[in-house]
Amino acid sequence: MVSKSLRVAIIGAGPAGFYCAGQLFKEYSDSVEVDMFDRLPVPFGLVRFGVAPDHLKIKSVTKLYERIANKPGFRLWGNVEFGKHIDLEDLRANYHCIVFAYGAQGSRSLSIPGENLQGSHAATDFVAWYNGHPDYSKYTFDLSVDTAVVVGIGNVAIDVARILCLTKEELLQSDIADHALDALLQSGVREVVLLGRRGPAQAAFTNPEIKELGDLQDADIHVVDKEAKLDILSRQDLDLNGDKMLVRKVEIIQDFAERKYNNKSKVIRMRFLTSPVEIFGNGSGKVSGMRLVKNEIYRTDQGALKARPKDVYEDISVGLVLRSVGYLGSAVPDIPFDNESGMICNSQGRILNPETQEFLTGMYTCGWIKRGPTGVIGTNKEDSIESVNCLIEDVKSGKMLKPSDPSIVRIEELVRSRQPDVFTFMDWKQIDNMEIDKGSLVGRPRVKFTSTSSMLKALGRN
Ligand code: NAP
Repeated sequence: MVSKSLRVAIIGAGPAGFYCAGQLFKEYSDSVEVDMFDRLPVPFGLVRFGVAPDHLKIKSVTKLYERIANKPGFRLWGNVEFGKHIDLEDLRANYHCIVFAYGAQGSRSLSIPGENLQGSHAATDFVAWYNGHPDYSKYTFDLSVDTAVVVGIGNVAIDVARILCLTKEELLQSDIADHALDALLQSGVREVVLLGRRGPAQAAFTNPEIKELGDLQDADIHVVDKEAKLDILSRQDLDLNGDKMLVRKVEIIQDFAERKYNNKSKVIRMRFLTSPVEIFGNGSGKVSGMRLVKNEIYRTDQGALKARPKDVYEDISVGLVLRSVGYLGSAVPDIPFDNESGMICNSQGRILNPETQEFLTGMYTCGWIKRGPTGVIGTNKEDSIESVNCLIEDVKSGKMLKPSDPSIVRIEELVRSRQPDVFTFMDWKQIDNMEIDKGSLVGRPRVKFTSTSSMLKALGRN
């Protein structure tokens, strides 16, 4: 049966993909069909695999995504990878528009010696592991060490530092993956050092997240007094242009510097104006230490405040390094991509050929793979609306793909022939219920399935 509706394929079932689908249904009501593809068996992307397991309130946004998924024109094709099970030609034959919303799963590197020693990991890998991402459930992190260093002071760094310091009671209230729960309950980590290369006024974390770090049940927070003080340039900028939130952020940090230790079992040390220059290994190639350099703030010709190294070094002992210096998007076949920024080449969400600057008819992008890995979950709403507005404008003027076979039946046949283990939204609802049921037996919000095979088994499909 050939569809009379506008048919849209969305690659990626994370927040950006769902806001995009929601906006399409809002604008076109029942005259649009949205097929969402994800290489993972279950939906919600970073809400399930990125948001910290103890931040359950943030995850309740999935209720909104469920309402979108319940629209009659919506279908989820989970465990179906673009570039492996389906390609651009398959989609061009079946849809009028294609939206790439697959996020940014990779991580930026530090480019320092020793970065790849055993015991040095991307923080994003640690996050995916403790959140039960199927690709990471077999990873191991040696938590028998005394000291962990987290490089970077964005919200991901704050999340991983906090997770390393939660008590058993706090962990049990979360939906952390069982393998991570077991490992963290055995953890020997007593000290977590957070390294910020610039000063308190440039810290990337947000105020609620940093405040929370000061309220942990069994971890003290400590900031070196002189590192909490603002340099002259930062002070000038804060006094001239600092918004209330930034002033408050600096106050919170300076308040930490004045705190006394409460003899809690763990301590989080927050450092500023400090960068790693080398990670050292022991005889068996495992992380054992780190050389740090002190930085100073300078103003660039463009007016930004950046860090540059002074000739002052410090060596510290460390057994685990988590590099938390930002996510990085990667390319998919046949879609113009900028390797430097890790983003799909686009203007306001319309994908373009970077050489000719011409738009690719019917092709759009939204979310982190469109604008880079910044902002909170809700930021993706506005971002997706911008892309959908471009799509609507183009459709109105007839600029869309001309699919030869725009049929629900055809795409279903194709997908199932290429990937028999496809997961629908109904499958997800069953898995969701099973996870919540497993959780209620042990007094936890949910107990996650962490592999595709265990999900298939639970659905009675292997
Ligand atoms: P981010 O906010 O961009 O922070 C990256 C951090 O890495 C910054 O402190 C940055 O310092 C530092 N950095 C970058 N390159 C470095 C280098 N070579 N050496 C030392 N430090 C370096 O990234 P993120 O923490 O991965 O978070 C990604 C996005 O997700 C953010 O928008 C974040 O707010 C959001 N998120 C939100 C939550 C939440 O709402 N609870 C939780 C997790 C993530 P500079 O500032 O000096 O560049």
